[in-house]
Amino acid sequence: LQEKLRDIQLKPAVTLDGHRVTLSANVEQPRDAEEVLANGGEGVGLFRTEYLFINRDTMPTEEEQYEAYKQVASALKPQPVVIRTLDLGGDKFHSQLQAPTELNPFLGWRAIRYCLQEPTVFRHQLRAVLRASVEGNVKMMYPMISGVDELNQANALLEQYKAELRAEKIPFDEGMEIGAMIEVPSAALVADALARRLKFFSLGTNDLIQYTLAVDRMNEKVAHLYEPTHPAILRLIKNTVEAGRRNNIWVGVCGEMAGDPVLIPLLLGLGVDELSAAPALVPPVKFLIRRLKMSEARELAEFALSCESASDILVRCQALARDIA
Ligand code: PEP
Ligand code: MG
Repeated sequence: LQEKLRDIQLKPAVTLDGHRVTLSANVEQPRDAEEVLANGGEGVGLFRTEYLFINRDTMPTEEEQYEAYKQVASALKPQPVVIRTLDLGGDKFHSQLQAPTELNPFLGWRAIRYCLQEPTVFRHQLRAVLRASVEGNVKMMYPMISGVDELNQANALLEQYKAELRAEKIPFDEGMEIGAMIEVPSAALVADALARRLKFFSLGTNDLIQYTLAVDRMNEKVAHLYEPTHPAILRLIKNTVEAGRRNNIWVGVCGEMAGDPVLIPLLLGLGVDELSAAPALVPPVKFLIRRLKMSEARELAEFALSCESASDILVRCQALARDIA
């Protein structure tokens, strides 16, 4: 099997009936870039930048961040690298001292909400990303966007920092694409309005499922209710994909669903353009895609969208996964 996986490293992620899928990888550290290339990933679909911020007492400087982003961008050049802006809060904290005093940290001061209220932190990060954008094919996305006003606010700050760099004669990619994670149910529901203002979406299914089904999956007592095949989740994904289509922007998935062989055909059938999974999962995911027919995936999605039971949908997904394994 190892040999088979190595064998497909250089082959494209294309289904038996010729449908091309973009297969990228999630990274958390600059040193992960090598693993992406070694596994045949087509760029980075999610660069989690939290590692720069957690378990320390000081904030990383703009320079420190620039070096890290530049390292990944240049290592993967010309392939794209999607840098996600800071997703602190929830389960990720700056230091233990800052650990949550909130009753509901996942519903609280997290990710883009934190950044919009701490513009100095946001400014250093966005300037670092902009500066690194000339070192490769850099795209940037915001986490936890819940609606248009929040997105407009983030973009207004971005424009302000771009103007600063222009005035300082510091180069950056004027065409750098901006996207958003779709991981809050409200964002999936207003995806059309968001799509008009963005160049891509990346579905963060980990949070999208948790928030839609109101399930803390770390809580053993309710973990069984965390169901990726719940019809509500599929409708949100479908709405997001269709909004993307109508507005000519691509839609990826960077949550754990994107690396799950049982769920990948369903995601492709629902029309997602890109999957981004842990580097080690890239070869097996590609192996699966190359054994799948897009027609089967579409049939599966059509069935799933007409079905009312999460467990019935899961059974069909498992059956197809067994057929093509
Ligand atoms: C997600 O929510 O699916 C996601 C990819 O973001 P994270 O797991 O970093 O919260
Ligand atoms: Mg998330």
